[in-house]
Amino acid sequence: MIEQAVIGALTLEPRSVPLDRVGGVGVRRVLPHRELRMVGAWCFLDRFGPSIEPMAVLPHPHAGLQAVTWPLGGEIRHRDSLGNDQVVRTGELNLLTAGAGVAHSEFDVDPGRPAFGVQMWIALPEAARHGRASFNHYGFLPRAAGYGWEAVVFVGELDGAQSPAATFSPLTGAQLTATGPISRIPIRPDFEYAVMSLSGPIMVDAVPVTAGSLRYLPPGAEEVIVRAKPGSLLLIVGGEPFADDLLMWWNFVARSADEIEAYQQSWNEAAGGFSARFGEVRGHNGAWISAPPLPPVRLRPRPGRG
Ligand code: MN
Repeated sequence: MIEQAVIGALTLEPRSVPLDRVGGVGVRRVLPHRELRMVGAWCFLDRFGPSIEPMAVLPHPHAGLQAVTWPLGGEIRHRDSLGNDQVVRTGELNLLTAGAGVAHSEFDVDPGRPAFGVQMWIALPEAARHGRASFNHYGFLPRAAGYGWEAVVFVGELDGAQSPAATFSPLTGAQLTATGPISRIPIRPDFEYAVMSLSGPIMVDAVPVTAGSLRYLPPGAEEVIVRAKPGSLLLIVGGEPFADDLLMWWNFVARSADEIEAYQQSWNEAAGGFSARFGEVRGHNGAWISAPPLPPVRLRPRPGRG
């Protein structure tokens, strides 16, 4: 196990996730990674689709996290146990704050035009993770621009541009477009970051990084220099190193095995109907995704950097 407190810059390759675990949609997962648990409070990073099969992710629960849905193409219909029913399109943000528990579904609006994009989770800090669930859709997000780049900031802050999205720890989540062959992106030395190309290969601080891989940058830098073909799409996420020990399992972010077991049981006992913790997502005729069995070996938290 790598000691997270002294981790240096590194490149993380994504891995494929079996289709049956993610509602029929092809997924390439890069966080969590065996070499790196998180970047700031970002604890999960998937690129999904487009798949031949339409996206049809039936009701499933979340706790202890915020789910960020950022489409790059297509349209996704989100429904949740709070009663929200919201389509999200390219350039818009769906932000589901699970707090102590929520359930939702995600479906392609047009099965003939499957959506693709990025889905990420933000771990909630202790003060927010037992709170009430909420959902927000943001159709207009702030822009930023600098030497060789422009960006839309969907979460947190980048170069003074602040997203209106409600978050609970200092963060950056932005999509950049290279406007020249060299982009000089100002960053905060108190944050760690990761940069991913959503199009072709790039260089991050002179290190080659293939599309879909993540280049991790530890705290301390005031600028990251990216070489990319003009027009390339990049993702940058960052934040203050997350101090808490975390236990991530299935769709839950917790602190202990007891919590995970309680979440798993309260969802499966409801059997798709009303769960006191997670509620009910209407409109699916009782169809739902059950939590898998817990592993035979008791789950253990992974250490934070506090
Ligand atoms: Mn979900």
